[in-house]
Amino acid sequence: MKDNLIERDGKLWFVEYHSDYTGHIYAVRRVLYRGESCCQSIGVYDLYHYGKTLVLDGKIQSTACDEWVYHEVLVHPMMVTHPEPKRVLVIGGGEGATAREVLRHKTVEEVHMVDIDSLVLKVCRKYLPEFSRGAFKDPRLSIIIGDGRKFLENAKQGFYDVAVIDATDPIEGGPALLLYTKEFYELVWRCLSEDGVMVTQAVSPSYEFEDQITCTVSIFRTVGSVFPIARYYRAYIPSFDGEWGFVLGSKTHDPLDLSAEVVDERLRRRGVDGLKYYHSRLHTSLFTMPKNIKELLESFPKARVLRDDEPAFVY
Ligand code: SAM
Repeated sequence: MKDNLIERDGKLWFVEYHSDYTGHIYAVRRVLYRGESCCQSIGVYDLYHYGKTLVLDGKIQSTACDEWVYHEVLVHPMMVTHPEPKRVLVIGGGEGATAREVLRHKTVEEVHMVDIDSLVLKVCRKYLPEFSRGAFKDPRLSIIIGDGRKFLENAKQGFYDVAVIDATDPIEGGPALLLYTKEFYELVWRCLSEDGVMVTQAVSPSYEFEDQITCTVSIFRTVGSVFPIARYYRAYIPSFDGEWGFVLGSKTHDPLDLSAEVVDERLRRRGVDGLKYYHSRLHTSLFTMPKNIKELLESFPKARVLRDDEPAFVY
């Protein structure tokens, strides 16, 4: 099992490897669940500094301590970019926290959440109910168990206003490898309405390894090869040990055209309150890159448009 638990100094540790030479270790207070599903190893650990944590294939997905940073930043910039998001597609997002954030917007009439792994959902409902906070009981949410890619192949054209891709990282042999390619984003484009918007998590820009940088910049280039508006943004997630990248793709609306007043007005009109991280003045600054990342996005030579027959993966 790829759950990377080791004993040392009388304690149990979870090790997340970032390359052959580096990683992050976390002391484990309690193992709540360990198992293997159709497609990945699953662990739920109570970590000393981060609280309850979901780990898939040896990679942290979210922790109680800071899951709200990741999920607010993933969802709200994209939701406010669309003037009236009613039909929402979520691919992945097994904890239910992405759906939770989407459902805060009162414009939303239906959310279809497609996750490949029924066991992840079952385990999250049982051990991590504070991550979904009732979202699974919201009548606007329908859960579909299946591969997000196959779902899109049969999805109704132009049906969704917005789509959130909250899948696991592209790892070799992992279930999400083909959720980051041009062919995949073409399917996302097809299922979106004329002014549709999408967002995907896009791995980390701050692990300075070639495969990681190639991957995050390539996801940006790949979304940009399909959507006329592609914007990269990032936020620091403490438990991920670095900054995390996101890519928004849009057919017509540009998140950078939104003033703080418009963001405030959209959040208020939709009844979105009680956020802990995202706010109207942060909106534009999320998209403002330090010089090194800006330069990577503009000209990292190894980055390329990812295709099904030549995807990119992280360690
Ligand atoms: N925050 C996350 C991260 O850092 O990678 C993503 C979290 S979420 C738990 C990832 C979900 O993607 C999992 O529940 C997994 O089962 C799902 N997933 C992976 N591959 C998928 C696929 N091909 N179709 C649908 N869901 C998929």
